[in-house]
Amino acid sequence: MQVAILSLSSCLGCQMVFLNLEEYFYAFIGDNRIAYAPLLMDHREMPNVDLALVEGTARNAGHFLKVREVREKAERVVALGTCACFGGVQGLANRFSEESLLEGRFGTETIEGAPQGVRRLLPLDSYIRVDAYLPGCPPSPELLRDFLQLLLTGSTPVREGSTVCAECTVVSPQLPQPGPRRITEAAPPTGICLLDAGFLCMGPLTRDGCGALCPSTMGVPCRGCRGPSSRVLTDPSLDMEEETARRISRATGTKREDVKAAIKDPVHTHYLFTLAEPILRRRRRGGTAPYLYRLGERGSGR
Ligand code: SF4
Ligand code: SF4
Ligand code: SF4
Repeated sequence: MQVAILSLSSCLGCQMVFLNLEEYFYAFIGDNRIAYAPLLMDHREMPNVDLALVEGTARNAGHFLKVREVREKAERVVALGTCACFGGVQGLANRFSEESLLEGRFGTETIEGAPQGVRRLLPLDSYIRVDAYLPGCPPSPELLRDFLQLLLTGSTPVREGSTVCAECTVVSPQLPQPGPRRITEAAPPTGICLLDAGFLCMGPLTRDGCGALCPSTMGVPCRGCRGPSSRVLTDPSLDMEEETARRISRATGTKREDVKAAIKDPVHTHYLFTLAEPILRRRRRGGTAPYLYRLGERGSGR
């Protein structure tokens, strides 16, 4: 199989996972031809390929052209990592105007030849048809290996599944508990459901696959890096902010409005990886719209 691996605007973290595949990486490049991978090889042109794995988000006109080229030249296109699948942490840029972001980074100097930026960051499937998704920031080597094996047998892994809670090994404490609280304010208890203990855990709204790494293994709340669960994507009445407030309210006996008022940074709490996902903008209760530049009108990145 001819394979392309490439980045748009990204931290390259998802591509780096290939190097963590250890023996499987050698088997993969032995059985397939890496026809285009600018991180690894000095290829000028992308040839026609059977499979293209695309990391990151389209940030400027050059990326946009690359995305179209990928769709034309690849039989199957995979969104690799949460940036490509849902916008990822880069989607936080959608809070600000492009002008204020550029000024904050480069000052008021005009940069000759700089490519035109996009007005709003969006996931890859907002531009082209995507055949399969592997979210994660980055996806674990085990997830990537299993995903590649499925792709190489001709299967197209589907975008559905359960939540992080389904994989979590903790038990529920007696309610009510104090909260809402953060791990900077109190040490999370071990072996206890952190959301029931009043901590802001995104596990119930986040797709499974990581083995509940953070709550089960490290004892810290899930931040949602695998992106929204299938239910969050398909149920228009499910607003992530409202749902978290409802659960914390139930666990702590605090009024829902008071829970929401106590969360000082709702974007980083609820939408750290998903602010760019258009589906979450179309919620009955407002979804991400109040936080987006031009809709919620923040605009200034300074
Ligand atoms: S998903 Fe995470 S690891 Fe992958 S490119 Fe985006 S920020 Fe980097
Ligand atoms: S700790 Fe978080 S992920 Fe685990 S069961 Fe509780 S809410 Fe779900
Ligand atoms: S528990 Fe949550 S934040 Fe941690 S790896 Fe899994 S999805 Fe990501």
